[in-house]
Amino acid sequence: MTKHRTKTILTHAGRDPRSNHGIVNPPVYHASTILFPDIASMEESAKRPFDSYRYGRSGTPTSAAFEEAVTALEGGYRSVAVGCGLAALTVAIGAFVKAGDHLLVPDSAYPPTKAYCDKVLHRYGVETTYYDPEIGAGISDLIRPETQMIVLESPGSQTFEMQDVPAIAAVARDRGVVTMIDNTWATPLFFRPFDHGVDLSVHAATKYIVGHADAMMGIICTNSEAHFKAVKTEAYLLGHAAGPDDLYLAQRGLRSMAARLAQHQASAMRIADWLEARPEVARVLYPALPSHPGHAIWKRDFQGASGLMSIVLHPVDAPAVARMIDDMALFSIGFSWGGYESLIVPQDPASHRRTVPWKAEGPLVRLHIGLEDPDDLIDDLAAGLDRLRAEP
Ligand SMILES: *Cc1c(COP(=O)(O)O)cnc(C)c1O
Repeated sequence: MTKHRTKTILTHAGRDPRSNHGIVNPPVYHASTILFPDIASMEESAKRPFDSYRYGRSGTPTSAAFEEAVTALEGGYRSVAVGCGLAALTVAIGAFVKAGDHLLVPDSAYPPTKAYCDKVLHRYGVETTYYDPEIGAGISDLIRPETQMIVLESPGSQTFEMQDVPAIAAVARDRGVVTMIDNTWATPLFFRPFDHGVDLSVHAATKYIVGHADAMMGIICTNSEAHFKAVKTEAYLLGHAAGPDDLYLAQRGLRSMAARLAQHQASAMRIADWLEARPEVARVLYPALPSHPGHAIWKRDFQGASGLMSIVLHPVDAPAVARMIDDMALFSIGFSWGGYESLIVPQDPASHRRTVPWKAEGPLVRLHIGLEDPDDLIDDLAAGLDRLRAEP
C-alpha cells in the first residue's frame, strides 16, 4: 500500500473485499467475548498480545482495519485507535512519562491537552513547561535531564502559530527525547510528521477523518515497534477502546477525505483572502496566507491547508460580537470542526496562556469553512460583519 500515492491509499487501505465475499467495505465486528477453540490456542494468543484478537477491549478486525489504513496514510509503523482525540493525546503522552519526569508543551496547544498536564500529570508528579511555539531549535535550552517528551501542535488550533517541526524534532532526537505532534489540523494529507523526524502523530479523527460530525475517534500513529508497544500498553491498561460503529464511520470518512479537504482548502483560501480586505478584521490567522507570520514554514513543510482559521477583529465590545454571531444564517455556533458545515465560535486564547501572553487588537473568532458554496458563506460573513458595526 505504502508505495502508492495518498489518494490511492485513502481509497484502498484497510480493506480486503476478497476475504469478505467481495463486499467492498469491511464488516463491523461487535465483540466483547472472543472465543478460543482450545486451551493451547488461548495460551498461544497470550504470547502475542499485540497480534492476536483476545478480548473486545484490546482490538478487533474492525479497529485493525482503521489502524492499518491510517498507518499506511502516515507512513508509520503501527497505530492505536481510541475513543476520541483527547484520549489519543493523553495516552500518547502518558505512555512516556513517570513521576519526576518533565514535559514540554507549546503554549498554543489545544487547551484540554494543557488541562491534562496541569490537572492529571501534575498530580502524578510530572512537571510541564509551556514553551513559545515559535521557539524552533531554541527548545534545546529548555530540555532537562528528566525531559521525556516534547509535544507539538502546528499550527495551534486557536491561534495558528506555525512550529519549526524539523528543527525541534532534530534537537529532540539528538537529546533522546520523544516527540509527539497533534496533527489534527493538517490531517495526514497536508503534513507528514514522520518525514520531519517526529515519533508519534496523533489525530482527533473526530474532525476531518470522520468528517460528518457524527462520531468521535482518536488515533495515535507510531514510527517504531517500541513506541507502538508503549502506546498500545498504555491504551489497554487505561481501558481505552473505540466502538465498532464509530470505527466504521471513521474508516468510511477516510475514503472521501481528499475530495472534502480539497474543497475545504479552496473555500477557506478564498474566504481568508476576502476577510483580509474587510475593515472590521485586523488579522486573519491562516498559515496559507502570505501575510501569516508562519507562512514560510507552512510553505516549506506542508502540502496544503484545511478549513479552520481565526480572525482577530478590531476592538469591539462583546455584545457586538454576539450580534454578529447570533444571527449568522449558515455558520453555526459549535466547537467540533472538521465536518461538512461551517462553524463560528468566539475564543479567548489569553485565558489559557502561561508563557507567551496572547496579544491581539480585539476579540478572536474561529471559523470552520465547510462544504457550502463559498459565495453563500461570503454573503453570510459580510452580513455578520455589517451587524458588528451597526448600532444595536
Ligand atoms: C478536537 C481536538 C482534539 C480532541 O478531539 P476529541 O475527539 O474532541 O476528543 C484534539 N486536538 C485538536 C487540535 C482538536 O481540535
